[in-house]
Amino acid sequence: MNVTVSRDLYEHVMVPNYAPVSVVPVDGRGARVWDQDGTEYIDFAGGIAVNALGHCHPDLVEALTLQAQRLWHISNIFANEPAMRLAHALTQASFADRVFFANSGAEANEAAFKLARRYGVRTGGEDKHEIVANLNSFHGRSLFTVSVAGQPKYSEGFGPPIKGIRHVAFNDIQALEAAVSSHTCAVVIEPVQGESGVLPASRAYLQRARELCDTHGALLIFDEVQTGMGRLGTLFGYEHFDVVPDVMTLAKAIGCGFPLAAMLATKEAARHLELGTHGSTFGGNPLACAVGETALKLIDRPELLRGVQIRHTHFVSALTVIGKRYDLFKEVRGIGLLLGCVLTDRWKGQAKHVIDCCLEHGVMVLQAGPDVIRLAPSLVIETEEIDEGLARLAKAVKQLSREPVAM
Ligand SMILES: *Cc1c(COP(=O)(O)O)cnc(C)c1O
Repeated sequence: MNVTVSRDLYEHVMVPNYAPVSVVPVDGRGARVWDQDGTEYIDFAGGIAVNALGHCHPDLVEALTLQAQRLWHISNIFANEPAMRLAHALTQASFADRVFFANSGAEANEAAFKLARRYGVRTGGEDKHEIVANLNSFHGRSLFTVSVAGQPKYSEGFGPPIKGIRHVAFNDIQALEAAVSSHTCAVVIEPVQGESGVLPASRAYLQRARELCDTHGALLIFDEVQTGMGRLGTLFGYEHFDVVPDVMTLAKAIGCGFPLAAMLATKEAARHLELGTHGSTFGGNPLACAVGETALKLIDRPELLRGVQIRHTHFVSALTVIGKRYDLFKEVRGIGLLLGCVLTDRWKGQAKHVIDCCLEHGVMVLQAGPDVIRLAPSLVIETEEIDEGLARLAKAVKQLSREPVAM
């Protein structure tokens, strides 16, 4: 039986947990995407900070297809070359000594939190199991990760949550000092809160977290699922802040669109996840790791990272002008190519409406909460793609500005 694969089919075949927009993308190249009707879009969303090298980067296509003709999957009963090469490259490029591969951000965080719990229990006894996390953070959608994240909208309604988690306000040093104790096994922080509005941590906050962890023998975990892999203009976000964690999780851009994630740890921390304590069938498969290896090689280059800064400046100045002219944004914030345009009071709560209008004008953007328009484009987006996208965004904003004030 032949079916028409249009957006209408979606509700009939999919679990209703998402509400995708009305157009169905079918092709992508660089920072451009085309839908079923051939309509072109400039992609400032990057598949939610995933497509760091744009769509179908030729070197990634080559890495994927070459490996696809050799070995896709072999299981963790065997070591494989791409995984060992990628782990070696990641440890060379970061503070870490050891790597655990997974397939998603939630899984990488799950591994980090399980490691933290074992570390705590083994170094300080059963009571040393508390994880201190930020309110309004985001660490994925598994039960452990939603419990850690401190957002009731994601964690409530699933029966008893995971216990032993203390939530503190982001960037509040005193609250952190009050929460961390000898019972703490880990403090987990997103260096820039991505989903909750593109809110950078202050350096002082991260530094204090480092000190508190050292004082109380707790692990400092940075969730760099969104901030890692060049997004902030440094290979990893912690470099931007000059504060080094014990454990870091990566996903999103590490596979540039191929499912891949990693938990990186110091040797000292990693040894607590000893033989048999954790695992994954697909984690570290050769196909994903071959893509990750090439992605890391391409991203970890000074020219690319400098280019992120240059693009940042270009975006921020243009977005500030557009935002002011039409009284849409009161602030443009963020680091590198993780940008948040904060809506003015008139547009409060209307981020979804704004992104829908942008899409109608041929530019893909994201929201980060109800009041922030988030941009996370390709790190190698071309100048003309940026300018074309911004022109489309300006048209959308102009149209919005003519609408009567929503009540
Ligand atoms: C996206 C994200 C996650 C979750 O990643 P998944 O691959 O969807 O499981 C975790 N942490 C942060 C900071 C993220 O931005």
